[in-house]
Amino acid sequence: MSYRLGEVILSRETISRRVKEMAAEIANDNGRDKGIVVVGILTGAAFFLTDLVREMPEDMDVRVDFMSVASYGDNTTSSGVVRIFHDLKSSIEGKNVLVVEDIVDSGLTLSHLIELLNGRHPASLKVCVLLDKYERRKTEVNVDYCGFRIPDKFVVGYGLDCAGMWRHLKDIKYVIEE
Ligand code: 5GP
Repeated sequence: MSYRLGEVILSRETISRRVKEMAAEIANDNGRDKGIVVVGILTGAAFFLTDLVREMPEDMDVRVDFMSVASYGDNTTSSGVVRIFHDLKSSIEGKNVLVVEDIVDSGLTLSHLIELLNGRHPASLKVCVLLDKYERRKTEVNVDYCGFRIPDKFVVGYGLDCAGMWRHLKDIKYVIEE
């Protein structure tokens, strides 16, 4: 099976506009004096996270940490198994945590992750995703901030890959299987 890039589903301009809105909403909800720890899920969400936090007000207490979990491997279907490859550098106990993920699909990765992070007793835990493939949900996940709801088709770009490729694209595009 080989893959090639299809049409643009979300342009860089559309993404950028929405990221600004989301950052404003998060800053507004959270209050600038109350710090947040933004937890990015590597590798895909790193691209979205770095744009998102740079749109937050300068006087807001924003910390950034990353986790690396495995979900998909080289295929385009989920195993539903989450393995931690790289853990957070700092404790989140008593902190207001915002988990940032690129896409929620079946919801299995995020629901396992939320359970795991809640076990570390943060003061609060909210979830922010850029993309939501709502049609594919297998388990309920409470998403507090969602960039775009998209149809059930595989997408790449802006951090999202297909077998390691195309993360660097500025726009989000469909992938065509051949
Ligand atoms: P879930 O556990 O919700 O089924 O899967 C979430 C993970 O699946 C995401 O972090 C992402 O790595 C991967 N994923 C799901 N749909 C897509 C897609 O359309 N494109 C890419 N590149 N990854 C996807």
